[in-house]
Amino acid sequence: MLKRLNQTLSKLIDHELRTAQLLFLFLSVGFTAFTLFGDNLPVKGPLKHEWLNGIDALAATVILLGLLFLKPIQIRYQQCAYVFMYVMNFVNIYLLYGTSFHIQYAYQFIVAYTISGWFFRDKRNWLIHTAVMNFLLIFVILIAEKNTASSFDFYATYIVASFAQAILIHFRFSIEEKLSVSEKMYRLLAENSFDLICIHNADGSLEFVSPSIKRLLGYEPTELVGRKPYEFIHTDDRDIIRSLNLSKPNHPSIQHPSQYRLQHKNGSSVWVETIFIALEETDGVKGTVLSQSRDIRRSKAIQLQLEERTKELERSNADLETFAFVSSHDMQEPLRMISNYMQLLKKRYHGQLDKDADEYIEYANKGAVHLQQLIRDLLSYSRITRTELTRVSVNMNAAIDEVIKNIQIEIKEKNATVAREDLCSVEVDRNLLLLVIQNLILNGIKYNHSSNPEIKISCTKHDKETIFCFTDNGIGIKPEYQQRIFEPFHRLHTKAEISGTGLGLSISKKIIERLGGKIWMESEFEKGSKFFFSLPNS
Ligand code: ADP
Repeated sequence: MLKRLNQTLSKLIDHELRTAQLLFLFLSVGFTAFTLFGDNLPVKGPLKHEWLNGIDALAATVILLGLLFLKPIQIRYQQCAYVFMYVMNFVNIYLLYGTSFHIQYAYQFIVAYTISGWFFRDKRNWLIHTAVMNFLLIFVILIAEKNTASSFDFYATYIVASFAQAILIHFRFSIEEKLSVSEKMYRLLAENSFDLICIHNADGSLEFVSPSIKRLLGYEPTELVGRKPYEFIHTDDRDIIRSLNLSKPNHPSIQHPSQYRLQHKNGSSVWVETIFIALEETDGVKGTVLSQSRDIRRSKAIQLQLEERTKELERSNADLETFAFVSSHDMQEPLRMISNYMQLLKKRYHGQLDKDADEYIEYANKGAVHLQQLIRDLLSYSRITRTELTRVSVNMNAAIDEVIKNIQIEIKEKNATVAREDLCSVEVDRNLLLLVIQNLILNGIKYNHSSNPEIKISCTKHDKETIFCFTDNGIGIKPEYQQRIFEPFHRLHTKAEISGTGLGLSISKKIIERLGGKIWMESEFEKGSKFFFSLPNS
């Protein structure tokens, strides 16, 4: 019960301006009704009863209008309550005197006196108020004509009311104390935070600026309060803040961190990252925004450096690719000539020279063929990023059947079987995908010592991507080599053991990444391998 009372009172304190507005509405309507329609008793002395009620009505109405429409009065609602308490209590004491402690006024005084205790924020003011009122009351009791019966009732009720007020005040002070402790904590937090914390008014001006501004921008907080933050934002970055539309704080982008530059007092710029948070309507003030800004100069410098490095790397990568492309392209012609003449030599002079010469011509021939294959692979590798992608819907069943048809010789030679499930379609560049499929199937057959190499192809469709899997019963790869085989020219066998250029998997990797997917593998040495690649669903 006490807990609930405490909670209700805390809520009233949290929304005190609202509470005060409601209270004064009630007082204004009540006293105006009393003045106009009340049962006005004759009052001793120069003042008439309806005038006295009128004073209360006028004071309550004026304060109510101020509390509703004037910001300076809204801020000073507490002082308004003090003024009204004194006016009302004086009027009531005068009425007690003027009606010889008429019982109706006795209760009116007691109710007003009890409630008025609520507005005291500190004990000193409350004690002064209680002392003034009691002194006046005793004075009035001494000088007034009294009706004994009603004055007895008055004293009894007054004692009860004083207790009630003391309890009310006790609650009020204990809640206030707790609030002021937590307020102190928040203040400590805001004032000692390494980040810059600001509160922006609805018109965009700064209401609160935390002392960390001194460290960040070299200003004292007082230099910035009341000013608009736009003035301190780097001219090139003002649009970033403008686009957040802070004057409409319910805008969804308001909580996303924004990065921009602020202007230091010494003219330099400081990179910050700021989160803007629209505050809930507090005490009737709408559109207040809280901002928390962090100094990101160091990370920004690293980020800029990284971006610069990445650009440099991209540039040199592009240069290298052009170099690889041009040189392999230009090497093709002389190499073709060497290869043709070597074959001619073999054809014409085989058996006519000595045994060693035949052997040398054979080596030279093999070398030229390998070099041609290498240059063809290098060309396809550098073409991957140079050619434009033509995305079409590719039926994987048809694509695999086409590859199988193209590599019939290799399949028959090794007595291999390629089995596939019913596969899904994907939206990609068809030619590039055919190249990957061909590489994976050929590798599964090539790196296989079984008398019947088997390749199985399956696919799984997920929300965002489709994953294809090529399983073989080949020689497998030891775990320590599994990552490296995707690097260019990385081979686990000599040419004499199993022929190849070491570019097939790196070409496949580059293609899959260009198509927006990933390639990886799992393998058990001497048992077989699974090669996976994922492609995004369109
Ligand atoms: P290449 O086949 O031209 O040598 P790849 O890039 O296709 O080049 O393959 C790189 C290396 O990865 C191969 O030398 C081989 O050792 C290994 N490898 C590739 N596919 C398989 C597979 N299915 N099973 C076992 N090893 C494989």
